Amino acid sequence: MKTNRRKFIRGLAGASAGLVLPIGCAPGTKEETTESTAPSVHIKNKPVKASHDVVVVGAGLSGLHAAMLLEESGYDVQVIEGRQRLGGRVYTLQDVPGKPEAAGEYIGANYARMINTVNKLGLEMHNPDVGGGPNRPWLYNIQGQYINAENWESHQLNPLEGEDRRLLPHRFLSTISHRDNPLQGKPLNAWLEPEYHKYDIPHDQYLRAKGVNEETINLMNVVIHAGGIHNTSAMNELRRYHVMNFSDGKLSFPDGTSWKMIKGGNSLLPEAMAGSMKNKVQLGRTVVGFKEQDGVVQVSCADGSEYTAKQVVCSIPISVLRNVTFEPYITGITKEAIDQMDYGLSVQAHFLIKEPFWEQDGMDANMWTDGLLERFAVRTKRNKNDPESGLAFINGPESLKFRLMSDDQVFTYVENKLAELRPSTKGKLERLMIQSCERDIHGAGDWVYWQPGQVKKFANHMRKNHGNIHFCGEHTAIMERGMEGAFESGERAALDIILNA
Ligand SMILES: Cc1cc2nc3c(=O)[nH]c(=O)nc-3n(C[C@H](O)[C@H](O)[C@H](O)COP(=O)(O)OP(=O)(O)OC[C@H]3O[C@@H](n4cnc5c(N)ncnc54)[C@H](O)[C@@H]3O)c2cc1C
Repeated sequence: MKTNRRKFIRGLAGASAGLVLPIGCAPGTKEETTESTAPSVHIKNKPVKASHDVVVVGAGLSGLHAAMLLEESGYDVQVIEGRQRLGGRVYTLQDVPGKPEAAGEYIGANYARMINTVNKLGLEMHNPDVGGGPNRPWLYNIQGQYINAENWESHQLNPLEGEDRRLLPHRFLSTISHRDNPLQGKPLNAWLEPEYHKYDIPHDQYLRAKGVNEETINLMNVVIHAGGIHNTSAMNELRRYHVMNFSDGKLSFPDGTSWKMIKGGNSLLPEAMAGSMKNKVQLGRTVVGFKEQDGVVQVSCADGSEYTAKQVVCSIPISVLRNVTFEPYITGITKEAIDQMDYGLSVQAHFLIKEPFWEQDGMDANMWTDGLLERFAVRTKRNKNDPESGLAFINGPESLKFRLMSDDQVFTYVENKLAELRPSTKGKLERLMIQSCERDIHGAGDWVYWQPGQVKKFANHMRKNHGNIHFCGEHTAIMERGMEGAFESGERAALDIILNA
């Protein structure tokens, strides 16, 4: 028996700690939704009955949250996942000392849906040690010169003036972008309003117009999590820092901290979510096509398996959808969005540190550069007996070239660049693993980002369902971003089915 709608909404408001979607951000409207009628489809002229009420494609946070909500409402739900693991862009590296997070890492105090699910499933959170903080300062290497955090304010390469000279280079992008942010004090969905379309321009252009100099813009470009500051909409960055600073420090966990992680690794959450489902999540089911007929959707996978359902929730990252067929076809602006939207890229090269090279050269262990290596960080140990490990983390346009390299080539590249920059690292590193969220066919990259003009063109089209296929995923979120954005989007897709289908 399915839950009645009013009861479901009441339950959802509780589950989401009061964070329901605002009016105007509601799930698919009637005219966008194909009414489901008889649950049969004529595949090869043979009527086929839907085997499930709902098939959810993708076992990342968005798909799993939608699946749990639908199951709680009485639907028979089957989750299928292309990879041989759960979690998508939540991935704890169990084989790397200290079990670092390769992707979704920090859980904000405003992540109401996520925190609620963590608590409901009996998991615990703890406080992360944020890189770049007082206990883990960066050693900057800018234009080939080593500068430590203490010397930065007076250094000749510091391009800022007055009080701003105290700002450390890794904080330039967030602090300067958020300064006089036109979204400040506005609701989290304001970025979609036409009055802000004037900020849907290249971010470097926006910054120049505000008087930011070229040297500062170049340093901001090191940390940009997208396709370069020239190819990222200012609205992408303004929204990003608006969401991050929404609570202006007023919202924190009871212990006063703003960010947490899951004890034992964030992957425990998608694993627990999948474990709570009645039907076991099917792994290794890469969806290659959807075909809808007579109110039933047939989902075809690369291994030849097929699933049929009255409704489908699809959490596949939007750029991966380019490789998936739809019958009937997706056309118009949604198709353009599938073809053009992109994700920020990053690559991580993980190493064991055989000897503390920083003791040899006497400099800070963590290095932040404006060159091709970008960052090398020594991991905070989770347990004091863990061996020392570290990673090179390169994101944005600099990481594009790694798409064309094998893992061995990435390691060699990183080792050579490190040896040039920091000779004391030579012979002290042992290769562990290369990780990147787009180095297999199921991943698009880190976070979706909006190129100049794309907010205006696509932002209101990303959530439209295609017949009985309902899209979710971080890229379709309205209010939140990242992991909480994934939860928000799963909730919207589930509501879309419960209320409209
Ligand atoms: C390096 C990095 C750091 C991050 N840090 C943070 C952070 O600190 N805080 C934060 O909030 N967020 C962070 N994020 C972002 C966050 O991890 C994501 O926004 C969120 O996990 C996305 O969830 P999702 O369900 O939308 O997508 P995904 O997790 O990508 O889920 C989609 C699923 O679909 C599967 N799939 C894809 N194609 C197919 C197919 N054809 N057939 C079947 N299955 C398919 C994928 O394997 C995947 O499991 C970070 C991400 C990265 C990469």
